Amino acid sequence: MQYGIIPDAEALAKCAWCQGTIQEFEDVIDLGAKLKADIDLSEYESHCIELELVSEKKSVCMLVTASDSEAKKDGDDGMFLLCSEGCGQNLKDILEKEVTAGPLFESIRYDLR
Ligand SMILES: [Zn+2]
Repeated sequence: MQYGIIPDAEALAKCAWCQGTIQEFEDVIDLGAKLKADIDLSEYESHCIELELVSEKKSVCMLVTASDSEAKKDGDDGMFLLCSEGCGQNLKDILEKEVTAGPLFESIRYDLR
């Protein structure tokens, strides 16, 4: 599978859901995703890639976690950065559908702080 890589400076400052700029980085909300076992995104490690969703006509950008990162050790193969709880909730709802209907995600993890 081929994915477009979004330049880091751009991707890390943007909300995965609304594409709004993330202003206060300390308040950033993140959502972790575990990919299905046969999905290998290692060539995109530590980059943000653009994913086309199956259940909605929309694309989102996901950070592919590096193999030696804390997130990866916690079981997150991908991370989504979000500007607000509202965006987190919207993305969570869609990704839950993607887990059921799409080819990529095994499960998602979302804890509101
Ligand atoms: Zn947002």
